[in-house]
Amino acid sequence: MFGVAIFSLTIGAFIPSKPIASSTNAAQTRSVQSAPQGRGKGAPAAIEELNYSDLVSLINSDQRSTIKSLTFKNGSATVIVTRVDRADARVIVPDEGGKQDLRQLAIRHGIAFNVKPQAEPGANLLAIASVVATFLLILFIAASIMKARGAGADGGVMGVAKSPARRVDQLGTSVQKVKFDDVAGCDEAVKELRRVVKGLIGRGVYASFDAELPAGILLVGPPGTGKTLLAKATANESDGTMDILSGSDFVFMLVGVGAGRVRDAFSEARKAVVKSGKPHIIFIDEIDAVGGKRGGGAGGHAGNQEREQTLNQLLVEMDGVQSNRGILLMAATNRVDMLDEALLRPGRFDSQVRVDLPDRKGRECIFAIHSRKKPLHKEITLAALAARTYSYSGAEIKGVCNRAAITAAERWFEQTQELRSQRLSEKEIEKQIPRAITLKDFDEGIDFVRNGNAEPGKQASMTVEQKENTAIHEAGHALSSSVVEGSDPVVKITILRRARALGYVQFMPDGDRITYTMKEAVARIVTALAGRAAQEVLLDVKDAGASNDFEQANNLARTMVTRWGMSRLGQIFVGEAGANGSGIACGAGLADEIDLEVRRIVGACYGVARKIAEADKDRIRKLAAILMEEETMLTDQWLAFVNENPSALTSQEVSFDPTASEKMEGK
Ligand code: ADP
Repeated sequence: MFGVAIFSLTIGAFIPSKPIASSTNAAQTRSVQSAPQGRGKGAPAAIEELNYSDLVSLINSDQRSTIKSLTFKNGSATVIVTRVDRADARVIVPDEGGKQDLRQLAIRHGIAFNVKPQAEPGANLLAIASVVATFLLILFIAASIMKARGAGADGGVMGVAKSPARRVDQLGTSVQKVKFDDVAGCDEAVKELRRVVKGLIGRGVYASFDAELPAGILLVGPPGTGKTLLAKATANESDGTMDILSGSDFVFMLVGVGAGRVRDAFSEARKAVVKSGKPHIIFIDEIDAVGGKRGGGAGGHAGNQEREQTLNQLLVEMDGVQSNRGILLMAATNRVDMLDEALLRPGRFDSQVRVDLPDRKGRECIFAIHSRKKPLHKEITLAALAARTYSYSGAEIKGVCNRAAITAAERWFEQTQELRSQRLSEKEIEKQIPRAITLKDFDEGIDFVRNGNAEPGKQASMTVEQKENTAIHEAGHALSSSVVEGSDPVVKITILRRARALGYVQFMPDGDRITYTMKEAVARIVTALAGRAAQEVLLDVKDAGASNDFEQANNLARTMVTRWGMSRLGQIFVGEAGANGSGIACGAGLADEIDLEVRRIVGACYGVARKIAEADKDRIRKLAAILMEEETMLTDQWLAFVNENPSALTSQEVSFDPTASEKMEGK
């Protein structure tokens, strides 16, 4: 703990938040066009303050010839820059590593430098020795405390505050090669980041308009939509380096450790800029873990204190980033509403870029990216794959492609075994059975990603009653959707057992859903509940398999009530309360009313589902029988079935308006 505090004090002292120079000198430093200053022989030259990163930028620019030499003083953080036709400048270097980097830069660019011994060596030797001894003693005590608390797991007292960042420029070449062309389905985000890249590699036209680029960019969107990928592409397109961190890397129980890690991450980034002279990106994934709203918990608790200290440190460092040109902070979250407002102020994360789930066209492009090198069967169109994967994220689509390739490889190997044993050449084998990924392989990939691997062994050991139970349940879901207005079309019904489901019905909207109408929301709740309703009506069975259906139905009903104004409570909006999304922001009275209303809607929808099951018993049984025989039914066969077996009810007979006050019949 103490090691971290010492570290904090040191870095803090080395990065002045305000210029030390008087306002006149500071003005001279800022003004690039300031008149050359002749140096009177007798009068001591006025010394200017120069920012460390500005010096690095100057050395890396073609203006470096304005520097005559650099003078380092042993044991001091100050470097004196002697310049052509200008007053000397004083630069405070962040740390010893920074000085070394500066020397290397000077050597690389042929700038003279000299190192002076400390003014009075030995004069304060005793004092220094006693300070060092005290420091070591304190360090030792701190180490013992840390060890006793068991906090030194990842490297002991000195190691725990080290940034855990992965330096991407040191990773494999495949990462290095990530370009914006490898990201699809989020064109607006790419457009914004291309702008940032242009700003990073040369301010060009932006400078001529005095346009400032964002200091920090927040990528906002669900998991797997390509936020990390976008950050990598930004780093690579700007020929820069990058550190990847996760918000949880900064979350500790021990006060000061997270703040130390934040400091270390930024210090490493500054060094990276000095070393390479290139832009550097710090990417913090899941920033909500560290950047959640402050003041959520009772003061004094170590966990809260630590969180607040870490966030404060992040804010301090972000403010420093402005003056450290070359560093760009990027972060990802799905919960921007949970972030502390201070993080979103100008000069911090002042640019928010949305990265949403891809639409149909976007999915098609993502399929194109991830099947670039894969041998696709000529029957496959990427548009068809995109249509089958509504609501799949980029990461899921990548998973689909990969699973399809694995399935195809295994299938092809098995199918060609026989030909191989006949000693046919590879060419002849391929002629008979093309080495290609088929639609069926992709179908497996699509199912695998959402529902896990197929479990034929467990499927085989199921009893007829168990299979029938699943078949009735799935038939109930599917058939209710053919009656209730606003349902999405069915594309697949299966009772093939997978790791995460005994069976399922897949619905896909025709286009991309932009919003939910009330009818669509009600239809979704009814179809979710119709599996259990069919089991109850036809088999008199209640089992645990419907739990996920209930969760979906209740969540949707709650959203309808609290956010969408689709209930008898009218146009209310009740958000979440608390730093961690616990509880809702309303009084106890309204909370009770909301609970009752949610239960009323779910109950009424269940009434509709039961009504359908009662009226359509025969066709549910008929569909279940086909499923038990064939296990899976796809769109065409489904449409034919519904056509031949119409429901006994019309959609009007099962309509339900959650905003109306009358009670549902059948309840
Ligand atoms: P996030 O950071 O939003 O959780 P990632 O960037 O980690 O998502 O996505 C994981 C992987 O999924 C990526 O490396 C990439 O291969 C794939 N992927 C995700 N989104 C996209 C996209 N929009 N375009 C192409 N590939 C994507």
